[in-house]
Amino acid sequence: MESSPERSATAARLAALTAEIGACRACAVHLPLGPRPVVRVSASARVLITGQAPGTRVHETGIPWNDASGERLRGWLGLTSEQFYDTARVAIVPMGFCYPGRLANGGDAPPRRECAPLWRTRLLALMPELRLTLLVGSYAIAHTFGPGPMSVQVARFRALLPDRCALPHPSWRTIAWERRNPWFTADLLPALRAVLHAELAR
Ligand code: SF4
Repeated sequence: MESSPERSATAARLAALTAEIGACRACAVHLPLGPRPVVRVSASARVLITGQAPGTRVHETGIPWNDASGERLRGWLGLTSEQFYDTARVAIVPMGFCYPGRLANGGDAPPRRECAPLWRTRLLALMPELRLTLLVGSYAIAHTFGPGPMSVQVARFRALLPDRCALPHPSWRTIAWERRNPWFTADLLPALRAVLHAELAR
């Protein structure tokens, strides 16, 4: 735990870095709707949620997980919107901060690869209270654990908690995956909620 002057200095550095991110145009030429970084951080956050990249609705509103996937994620975590968006406790730092567009097949394009190397390590270094990181979706999982099947890392929840937990991207496409993997609802979610809610109550 940092002392009060240290906390203030960290918060000031984090605010300066967030302003720098807000002005980023590093991959603007590749962004169909232009840069609009969507990231929420604080020096006091204890939980970090890392997903992939904003969709169009998140781009329009500037509010992360402000869509059907966000509703499903909050349901998995047992969090109200108020708890989920309490930046003092919960930081939201995706793998790519701006809407990356779509693939030719209509699916979401991957997060821009320029983004995480530019910003992620610097941001996380200014959040010293983080205790639990949720890696949501294959891009965040691969960034941390390397390539491989997403389900393998999700199934390792007992080994990863209480520090980390890998989750599938909570889109409607995951409904069939959940049915095929009943341990996700029966075992993983209760274990994750217990750690998460204890962390948020500290
Ligand atoms: S996606 Fe990341 S690197 Fe690209 S413009 Fe947005 S903030 Fe900058």
